[in-house]
Amino acid sequence: KEKASIILHCNAVTVEFDGFKAVQGMDFELKRGELRFLIGPNGAGKTTMLDVICGKVRPTAGKVLFKGSVDITRKKEHAIAELGIGRKFQTPSIFHTLTVFENLEIAMSQNRGVFATLRARMRNEDRERMMNQLAMIGLEAKAQWRAGRLSHGEKQWLEIGMMLLQEPEILLLDEPVAGMTDKETDKTGELLHAIAKKRSVVVVEHDMEFVRNFASKVTVMHEGKLLKEGSMDEVQGDDRVAEVYLGK
Ligand code: ADP
Repeated sequence: KEKASIILHCNAVTVEFDGFKAVQGMDFELKRGELRFLIGPNGAGKTTMLDVICGKVRPTAGKVLFKGSVDITRKKEHAIAELGIGRKFQTPSIFHTLTVFENLEIAMSQNRGVFATLRARMRNEDRERMMNQLAMIGLEAKAQWRAGRLSHGEKQWLEIGMMLLQEPEILLLDEPVAGMTDKETDKTGELLHAIAKKRSVVVVEHDMEFVRNFASKVTVMHEGKLLKEGSMDEVQGDDRVAEVYLGK
């Protein structure tokens, strides 16, 4: 394993809430261009791990290293976001009364550090990036729709598109397909694979059919600890994983 290909390294991360260990000595390594699914029963500590990586929760012990040498363990959430780690929560934070295109424009101008970039001043390369993003999230035909009219799945894709315009190197997603139709779920799986061609993605997911269909590598957590890591076949064939999911 060459160090250079590891973009994120969580080392012996522990998180305590009033003495309760939500995460205990968790090790987690993510490669560049990897799409990783983080699974496990309710309360396993998955969301807390995402919270630690994006700086929302400070670990009680352990370290988080970005790109091998940048210690982000005690950094603030906004500083971690600026370094290139983006987090998407379940409820999309899009502007419902603005069009799809305008939502993307805002994300773009936020990236530039200028909120009110005039459309006329948008550089050609920016416009091209936006059009590419629009195509990637499959909303070209709805660019002029008000975002509030989009389906639940389309809203999620719009928010993912907005996040991508900020050029994160790592994208953290919490149950992205919750509430989606089967068709939307499949399109989301394809979208995540397309994103992982350039960036690294971590997905916390409960929908096991979705994981089975789209995961190449899976990390299973249980009671705050790493239970098993490997391909979907390896994970599914593991007795301890079966025990945790089916009960003893
Ligand atoms: P998962 O995402 O795998 O369902 P979580 O990371 O949300 O699990 O939670 C792990 C455990 O930590 C759960 O028992 C949960 O109740 C607890 N927990 C999570 N956040 C807090 C908090 N802010 N305060 C106290 N306990 C918490």
